[in-house]
Amino acid sequence: MPALPKYDYDMITIGAGSGGVRASRLAGGYGARSAVIEADRVGGTCVLRGCIPKKLLIYGAHYADHFEDAANYGWQIDGVSHDWRTLIDNKNTELDRLNGIYLRILRDNNVDLHEGKGILVDPHTVEVNGKRITSENILVAVGGWPSTPDIPGIEHVISSNEALELPERPKRMVIVGGGYIAVEFAGVFAGLGTEVTEIVRADTVLRGFDEDIRVSLDEELANRGIKLMSETVVESIEKQGAVYSMRLRGGDMIETDCIMYATGRTPNTNGLGLEEAGVALKEDGAIIVDDWNRTSASNIYAVGDVTDRVQLTPVAIQEGRAVSEALFNNNPTTVDYANIATAVFSTPPVGTVGLTEAQAREQGFAVDIYDSRFRPLVHTLSHREERTYMKLVVDAASDRVLGAHMMGMDAPEVIQGVAIALKCNATKAQFDATMGIHPSAAEEFVTMSTKRTEPDAAKAAQ
Ligand code: NDP
Repeated sequence: MPALPKYDYDMITIGAGSGGVRASRLAGGYGARSAVIEADRVGGTCVLRGCIPKKLLIYGAHYADHFEDAANYGWQIDGVSHDWRTLIDNKNTELDRLNGIYLRILRDNNVDLHEGKGILVDPHTVEVNGKRITSENILVAVGGWPSTPDIPGIEHVISSNEALELPERPKRMVIVGGGYIAVEFAGVFAGLGTEVTEIVRADTVLRGFDEDIRVSLDEELANRGIKLMSETVVESIEKQGAVYSMRLRGGDMIETDCIMYATGRTPNTNGLGLEEAGVALKEDGAIIVDDWNRTSASNIYAVGDVTDRVQLTPVAIQEGRAVSEALFNNNPTTVDYANIATAVFSTPPVGTVGLTEAQAREQGFAVDIYDSRFRPLVHTLSHREERTYMKLVVDAASDRVLGAHMMGMDAPEVIQGVAIALKCNATKAQFDATMGIHPSAAEEFVTMSTKRTEPDAAKAAQ
């Protein structure tokens, strides 16, 4: 008679978000006894509170532009109005559908779902709803949660979680932060008609992105009526009736109807029993892992935002996949973090892959810069004052394209393809040898022929 297995499962995954679902369903598919524990609905941040609902709201907000732009194309559209409730209800219906798909995927791959908060008792035991279950391996994929600075009155603010569920769209809104979430939500609410003020402590939005992209987006936000307050720090918040007043450093006050903070996210590791199980954390609470997603406890793994490496869904999915490939498919796999393309769904959006100009110079490359700023064809008739900006950072010595950056309509769709070229170490000459698609914005990436003159070189030439 075969010996009874030592543990209930081969792998228990805590957290059914993008990374956890991919890992547990692959494990189940490879024949491992796999279970996933989830305290909320299955789907995680991306499906339930992030990428998907956010992008649906962005699509919703874009109709305002479409209606406005249509006039010069001969359309007469009268009596346009927007119903926030309809958008939110329909978005929720779609999330229910996606949640159902995720549940089916788990079922189809023989993954047991345990609903409740999973807490590690020891390296092989997890407690969920007072019940203890054991496993050979444990994968922690519990994601992150919005974090806010500790200032008086911070209890009055909402995060992107609540912004996706507001009963009504506010007339005025202040968004604090200049990262992905802040600029994306600024676009949503401004597009739908809210008077949006964005407060950033830096010189402008998207610190860490290419400087030319940051400046270009700054201009476009202003064109859209989003009031950007840079180098501004909020010191306290007070609520008087339905109105919030914010005291800024220096003493200025601003009033608004709704305050959203998007000041980063922290790993969800509190109260998870990780220390008890021997899992080492960084100072910010993120789980420390090696290249194989293994924590300091040899049978415990972690993937996704809880490890605070690259907070992006496709990365979490690849990490989750790598864990199950290594454990259950005899296919040791690591994730390649080089040249990860990313997009900010601001209005207009940003797409980027590879090194920024500043990063390339810091790394010692002598760089050639090619860039182009133009009015997209669609706006020659709509007369919308919106520009597209595109930039290539090229290693002057090898001609390799080190970075590609774009701000403007369809930037995420364009950059995804360019990312393949960078993955293949494409040179500028190979970009140039590629036939363009005409007329498109994307063709600029293969037709930019004039090197940007460096300010010093320009001076010398005079
Ligand atoms: P980000 O890290 O992108 O941005 C945080 C912003 O908050 C920065 O502008 C930062 O300013 C500011 N900030 C931080 N602390 C404070 C503070 N105490 N007071 C004032 N401002 C502060 O975080 P997000 O919350 O926007 O998003 C979290 C992560 O989620 C992103 O980094 C991204 O990886 C992921 N994400 C990806 C999306 C996508 O792929 N489209 C969409 C949404 C999220 P400073 O620059 O000065 O540090």
